[in-house]
Amino acid sequence: MATTGGALDAVVVGAGLAGLACAGDLLTAGLDVRLVEASDAVGGRMRSDRYEGFVIDRGFQVFNTSYPQVRRRLDLRALALRPFTPGVLIHTDRGRLRFSDPTRRPREAADLLPGRLAGTRDLLALGVLSARDMLAPAGVLKRGEERTTRSALAAAGLSEEFVERFFRPFLSGVFLEDELETSSRVFHLVWRSTLRGTLCLPTDGIGAVPRQLADALPAGTLRLESPVDRLTDDGVLLTTGTELAAKAVVVATGPGPAAALLPAAHIGPYRTTTTYYHTADTSPLAEPTLLTDERRRFLNTCVLSEVVPGYAPAGTALIATSVLGTDTPGREARLRTALAEAYATDASAWRLLTVRTIEDALPAMPPPHRLTTPAQLAPGRFVCGDHRATGSVQGALASGARAAREVLRELRP
Ligand SMILES: Cc1cc2nc3c(=O)[nH]c(=O)nc-3n(C[C@H](O)[C@H](O)[C@H](O)COP(=O)(O)OP(=O)(O)OC[C@H]3O[C@@H](n4cnc5c(N)ncnc54)[C@H](O)[C@@H]3O)c2cc1C
Repeated sequence: MATTGGALDAVVVGAGLAGLACAGDLLTAGLDVRLVEASDAVGGRMRSDRYEGFVIDRGFQVFNTSYPQVRRRLDLRALALRPFTPGVLIHTDRGRLRFSDPTRRPREAADLLPGRLAGTRDLLALGVLSARDMLAPAGVLKRGEERTTRSALAAAGLSEEFVERFFRPFLSGVFLEDELETSSRVFHLVWRSTLRGTLCLPTDGIGAVPRQLADALPAGTLRLESPVDRLTDDGVLLTTGTELAAKAVVVATGPGPAAALLPAAHIGPYRTTTTYYHTADTSPLAEPTLLTDERRRFLNTCVLSEVVPGYAPAGTALIATSVLGTDTPGREARLRTALAEAYATDASAWRLLTVRTIEDALPAMPPPHRLTTPAQLAPGRFVCGDHRATGSVQGALASGARAAREVLRELRP
């Protein structure tokens, strides 16, 4: 076993959002840090690939500008963000209905007139719920009663009919579960950021977000293609046989590898999602809008090339559609039928470009769910990642920040 140099202050294992945030904060505090990443680029679950001239994110995802960690760490202007239309379209048996934000797009709010998307009581209850989630201090939402999202929506006075039409399809795409069994605290925080922020995508793909964080690290900090095999008494052992000695080790690898490297981390179950990428000669929906399905045959779909034209070569439309679970025989054919209905078009000539299944996409977050969990497991041993907070960009970055604070507390009491 070869050991390189003297002991570092810290080794951070994994250059997803959590590891990037942790390493960045430790470097800012003046520590000697290495960030080691198994694959050939940073980003983890938030990466984009070039595929046959298209930009393919590792599963459909959106970027929310209102997350506190996002505002603190990222230069949003440099990401050249392209927004989705605020709100969503819902495919129903009565045709397509638009759930829009009347404060941002009053002219598109016709479906919010009583009797179309919802009745007067539901609209009033929705207004009260939204005003509270948007305006109350975040601490109030974090301390609110903990129950399932379904119970919280019922307690807010929303009818089951409206919940089934709007919230259940919409939130299934957010939490990657379609029973509304996610913690109500997580729901209120997500609803708050949806109302306050803008959903968008960077012009160069979602992977531009972690790349910007990595570009800010001093040269020599990041080592790509350096998988960690195991933790040692002195630091970490890379699969190449090289040992990196460090006073503190932070495991930021995502759930599976973290459980293997640090069994004491006790990581809960994750949700799986699959995104189907189709191409078409003409765009089936001439606007950058999320479309959900009241019958929940898919989580959501959108014409990505309407959001960011550069995701597809000129003259081609790129459509991303996500479902729960994995790709199974016949699933794409059934999905195509549902998409033809939802987009009110003939989808038989669409080409299936590629399929992305992300096994460990988001942690399951049923109540009671701890919004933040300590990073330190033992002296010199820390863990971070979305499983220590919430399954989101905000959660991953915040857990990295927390791990950095705890490392600093140990190394500089
Ligand atoms: C399909 C999908 C859609 C999503 N949609 C949204 C959304 O719309 N909004 C939102 O806020 N969030 C969304 N998320 C969640 C968000 O992307 C994640 O919460 C976040 O990226 C997790 O970051 P992380 O750093 O915790 O873990 P990861 O991104 O998993 O990073 C772990 C890193 O560790 C590396 N690694 C693993 N093993 C080793 C090893 N042995 N040695 C060295 N390195 C190793 C991996 O290669 C990886 O780079 C979505 C996620 C997915 C998958």
